[in-house]
Amino acid sequence: MSNLPADLQEQLNTNMKPLLSYDTSLKAKDHSADKHLFKCRDGAHLESVLLRSGKRRTICLSTQVGCALACKFCHTGLAGFKRNLSPGEIVEQVLHIKREEPDRISNIVVMGMGEPMLNYNQLMIALRQINSPDALGLGARHITISTSGVKGGILKLAEEPEQWGLAVSLHAPNDELRTELMPINKSLPLKELMIEIDTYIKKTKRRVSFEYIMLGDTNSSEKEARELLQLLKGKLCHVNLIPYNPVPTLPFSATSLKKIQRFQDILVRGKIPCTTRFEKGQDILAACGQLAHKKVEKESCSK
Ligand code: SAH
Ligand code: SF4
Repeated sequence: MSNLPADLQEQLNTNMKPLLSYDTSLKAKDHSADKHLFKCRDGAHLESVLLRSGKRRTICLSTQVGCALACKFCHTGLAGFKRNLSPGEIVEQVLHIKREEPDRISNIVVMGMGEPMLNYNQLMIALRQINSPDALGLGARHITISTSGVKGGILKLAEEPEQWGLAVSLHAPNDELRTELMPINKSLPLKELMIEIDTYIKKTKRRVSFEYIMLGDTNSSEKEARELLQLLKGKLCHVNLIPYNPVPTLPFSATSLKKIQRFQDILVRGKIPCTTRFEKGQDILAACGQLAHKKVEKESCSK
């Protein structure tokens, strides 16, 4: 900003340092994704991803360093919880990536490291800045928050004046299996989770996305597809099947494409819209959190 007086420029340079700095960036050979590892001022690391698909440019944001919910298949969960990100650290992920990307950022998904509902207030401040016409001006309907289902979180979201989108990480169609995979299910079992989701749908009239990772023999047989169909019947929803990104040291494997297709067919025949999300940039997109974890392991400040 050369139109500012030189001493003010100097002051800004000294005092207004970015909160995040680039550590490592990986770019997919097919240009479909960039993955960035950012370093915070206190040395913590977090990941953000830019996904390109047609004209869509989607940024996947992190909300926490690590995650306390310890889902059994998740690399971020494995590393445990370190701290919440501040609104500035959340917004800066967008600013850094936006500055590098020539095309307009069209969507944001809060699906990076951490559980958004456990950093709710800070996230709302950040999303409002991203949403504000005075700042980034990205419409709330283009911003989706993904949650594992923390008691009361979805109800709070339903009360917000903005039309934020909701994605729910389901991953199992019954309480027994879901509790095994996602300990948070003990405090918000499926019946109660579905009540919160129904309230959100009624209030916002928006379609909810259910994320369902296909975990080999664990949750992707025809039996689970039928159970899922029963659970979701009549809901304004969409199911996203996600091929699992295997995490070294964890005992889960990916489901075969044939089995994924069979699972999808059962849902679609039962009138539940269902698609399979093939991850972009497979050469760089190891499971969320792996890049940060590797870094932290190297610096041996993690478990
Ligand atoms: N904590 C929130 C948002 C971050 S996780 C949540 O759980 O929804 C974002 C998504 O990535 C979730 O659906 C999560 O289950 C999924 N995920 C985690 N580990 C994965 C892996 N190894 N392969 C594929 N998806 C994974
Ligand atoms: Fe946390 Fe989401 Fe990973 Fe579960 S899947 S441990 S909630 S980041």
